[in-house]
Amino acid sequence: MTTPILDVHQLRTWYPVRRGLLGRGAAWLRAVDDVTFTVMRGETLAIVGESGCGKSTLGRTILRFVEPTEGNVWLDGHRITEMSRVELRRLRRHMQVVFQDPASSLSPRMRVRDIIAEPLVNFGLAGDRAAVDARVADLLCQVGLPRSAAERYPHEFSGGQRQRIAIARALAPEPDLIICDEAVSALDTSSKAQIVNLLSDLQQRLGLALLFISHDLAVVEHIADRVAVMYLGKIVEIGERAALFEQPAHPYTRALLSAVLDPSPARRHARIMLRGEVPSPIDPPSGCRFRTRCPYAFDRCAAEEPELRERPNGQSAACHLDALPALS
Ligand code: SF4
Repeated sequence: MTTPILDVHQLRTWYPVRRGLLGRGAAWLRAVDDVTFTVMRGETLAIVGESGCGKSTLGRTILRFVEPTEGNVWLDGHRITEMSRVELRRLRRHMQVVFQDPASSLSPRMRVRDIIAEPLVNFGLAGDRAAVDARVADLLCQVGLPRSAAERYPHEFSGGQRQRIAIARALAPEPDLIICDEAVSALDTSSKAQIVNLLSDLQQRLGLALLFISHDLAVVEHIADRVAVMYLGKIVEIGERAALFEQPAHPYTRALLSAVLDPSPARRHARIMLRGEVPSPIDPPSGCRFRTRCPYAFDRCAAEEPELRERPNGQSAACHLDALPALS
C-alpha cells in the first residue's frame, strides 16, 4: 500500500445559485471546497459525514459525472480532470462505481448475464460468447451467486443479491478502484453485513482500492483502513481508522462517534449533542465552518479558518485546539 492509485488535489465543486425574490445576486453553493487526499493501491478510504456534507458530490466529481470548478484528480498518474470525453471513457475501465440503489442502477429489461457482460463489451474486453459466459459465471461465483442467476432478471432478486450483481458488473473490467457511494445504506442489517464482508474479501483477494462513501460509522469501522470526515464541503479530519475511532482529534468527529452506540464500555463515547442546524453551504460561517455548532468554539474560531494539521498520533484535523478537552 505504498503507491497512490487516486490523488485528489484542492478539488472544488461549486454550483451557481440565484438569491433574492427576483433571482438577483449570484452566489455559490460550495458542495466540495478545497478537498485534498490520496487513496493507496489496495486501500479502503472511507468518506463520512452527515447527509448534505458533500461526500456524494465528491465521488461524482472524481468520476467526472459532475465537472469540478477547480483542482485536479489523478488516477494512477493520469490526470482525469484534463481528459477529453473519449480518453475518460477509456480510463473508466480502471475506476468503477457501485451506487446505493441497485434497483435503479440495473436495467430491469436486461438479464443478469447481459448486465455483467456490458462493461466487457463497452471496453472491448469481450471474447466470443463462450468466453463471455465463462467470465460472467466466474464473476457471479466471486460475489456468491449461482451460475443460474445469469439467466434471470434483476427483479427476481433481493436487495442484497441485486447489490452483488452490481458489484459483479463493477468487477468485470478488472478495475483498480471502486467508488462505493452509500453502497450498503439501503440494505437491511444482515444484507449490509454480508455485502461489507464481500467487499472486504474481494478487496483483499484482488488488491482493489475502495473509496467507501457512507454516513454509517458502524459500517465504516468494519471496512475502512483510513477515514476522512467531511463537514460543509471540507475534510475536517483524516487518519487511520483505529486511531480516529479511539481518539478523534476534531470536535465534529467526536460528536459523530458519540452518536454511535458501542457495546464495549472502554469504547463508549459520552453522547455530545450538537447545537443548531448544519449551516447553508451557500453561506458558510466565517473562520471555522463548524464553529456555530462546536461546544469548544472560542474567539479565534470566528476569525481564522483552521488548516488540516497533523497530530502526534498521525491524524490530521482542522481545528485550532491542539487537543480536545477531556470528557467529563
Ligand atoms: Fe471548534 Fe474552534 Fe476547533 Fe472549529 S476551530 S472545531 S470552532 S474549537
